Amino acid sequence: MDYFPPALENLVEQFAKLPGVGRKSAQRLALYVLGRPEEEAKAFADAILQAKGSIGYCPKCQNLTQGEGLCSLCSSPRRDQHTVCVVADPKDVIALERAHEYQGVYHVLHGVISPMNHVGPDDLRIAQLVERVSGGEVEEVIMATNPDTEGEATAMYLSRLLKPFGVKVSRLAYGIPVGSHLEFADDATLMRAIEGRREM
Ligand code: ZN
Repeated sequence: MDYFPPALENLVEQFAKLPGVGRKSAQRLALYVLGRPEEEAKAFADAILQAKGSIGYCPKCQNLTQGEGLCSLCSSPRRDQHTVCVVADPKDVIALERAHEYQGVYHVLHGVISPMNHVGPDDLRIAQLVERVSGGEVEEVIMATNPDTEGEATAMYLSRLLKPFGVKVSRLAYGIPVGSHLEFADDATLMRAIEGRREM
């Protein structure tokens, strides 16, 4: 039973849509926001709209970027544009960059193939990866999807898809425990995983 006025109830419902936020937490967040000064609430709302309005996808690597041009990694002369590390999520780029080992560029799939969740190859940024590789600039593709069932299946699928283009396809070495997630791996483990990658 809810006793909130409709506008507050609406705010609770919006918070409850966020990943990992249950009904109780949503109520707590809504009440917190309501208790803050007007300008703080406005800054919060503006930040959401501004991010939504100005963040787009890099046309090359599909990572999130400000505006419509190439992201800072794809346009950097210091990065090896011939080596492409394929990850499922923008969070994985941040994790790998944190390790300061990898000098190449990325391709972000925005998910993994998952028949159980009705995610097929067409739902991911795979066509853009194939186009990139078929362009001839790419020499090595490193599969850095998570070492769980769906991550492995996605890496295998992409490997079969890309090898005909004559690129080297490798997979991260596992210091990373099977079933775990890249974003939670420590820097040393990630560094070893990149160094010790094996050809697929
Ligand atoms: Zn990019």
